[in-house]
Amino acid sequence: MSEATAKRRVRRSVTAAAKPEVGALAILGGAPLFQSPKSTSNLVRPDFERFLRYAEPLFAPGGAGGDAIVALMERRFAEFHRARHCIAFANGFWALVSAIKTLALPGRSELVMPSLTYRRMADVAAWAGLKPRFCEVDPRSLAAGPREMEACIGEETALLLAVHPIVNCCDAAGLTALARRRGLPILFDSVESVYEWVGEGKVGAFGDAECFSLHASKLINGFEGGYVTTGDAAVAARLAMARDLGRDAAGHTVYAVGINSRLSPIHAAMALAGLDALDDQVAHNRRIYESYRKALAGFAGIRLLAFDERHPTSFKNIVVELTRDWPLSRADTIAILNAEGVLARAYYHPALHRKHMAYPHVPAELPLTDALAERFILMPSGHFIEPVDVERIVALLGLLAADAEEIAARLAAKRAA
Ligand SMILES: *Cc1c(COP(=O)(O)O)cnc(C)c1O
Repeated sequence: MSEATAKRRVRRSVTAAAKPEVGALAILGGAPLFQSPKSTSNLVRPDFERFLRYAEPLFAPGGAGGDAIVALMERRFAEFHRARHCIAFANGFWALVSAIKTLALPGRSELVMPSLTYRRMADVAAWAGLKPRFCEVDPRSLAAGPREMEACIGEETALLLAVHPIVNCCDAAGLTALARRRGLPILFDSVESVYEWVGEGKVGAFGDAECFSLHASKLINGFEGGYVTTGDAAVAARLAMARDLGRDAAGHTVYAVGINSRLSPIHAAMALAGLDALDDQVAHNRRIYESYRKALAGFAGIRLLAFDERHPTSFKNIVVELTRDWPLSRADTIAILNAEGVLARAYYHPALHRKHMAYPHVPAELPLTDALAERFILMPSGHFIEPVDVERIVALLGLLAADAEEIAARLAAKRAA
């Protein structure tokens, strides 16, 4: 088969919605494929009436209803995660900072965390007054496991900050066992693994505590918000004070770790409505994931990261790896997709140890993380994506694969102009 015939086949196998030719690409001046951008954020909108019902106590006479909404949210989320306690926060960021400050061993200066992770994680450490020490990840899971974290434990280690990756989970049981064996506290950032299980149990009940976010981009949308789950009543009590200016129930400042990071009741009402609708949402996510899987089966150059379906999972995020067969650079691929309204994003790039940090940290050489940080892309998913959108996106990728040389040449010419 000639190259031209092969290209025509690729193009014909894609849907009518695909761009007809290279010149029609938005980055080269054509109209974008999507009028409304397709994002990687979940942006789920729960049932509006249900949200209003949860919010109703806010408008009751006396004005104390807000506290009841947050208390209900904490009860329901503790049950959901099978954790003894849930403490709500204004966002995931301050939930993390407060949990680190509450759990870290006093007199020590370092926090062990992966580098291939959430872009603000090193800032979290700085706000908690600790130096991040970055570790490698396991290339199969993209998470730091017991081996990678143990290699970074030393005299100054105050806490292990384990992070669940964007697809599937880290070895939560193995990491908890490592922390116990080394006499260290361990906190999980479980923002990306809400709803999920590992072999040993449900996410939310591991380690000393786990942190979650309710930002609109996450699985459960509280507009904004966060929470910590823990099985330890003393930790829960200190966290409740930490979010309330360090004050106890009587209003005395008894705890030096404290800012106002209380969750707004209206956000708690939104989170409750979202929790009620979670199974529907996961079913939707699964349809989107299946659409990608079908469309990308046998697609040269692109490998879809598969969800581990042995345990309940949220199917929330779609991550693909560009393999050696993919003919365009990742930066060009993302730029082309973004111009079409496909808001694909580089997976955790740059890695944290490569970023400028204006605060104390432990410099690190992490060749594996460097290599992995160049390979993955987050694709659109969530509430506003339908299977037909997935088909159009993959059809677009088909055009990029078939005409990569011409596209690269025209992009280069455009940049030189
Ligand atoms: C979004 C996110 C956070 C922070 O949550 P916010 O509520 O936005 O402050 C923390 N960790 C991870 C992995 C995240 O994706």
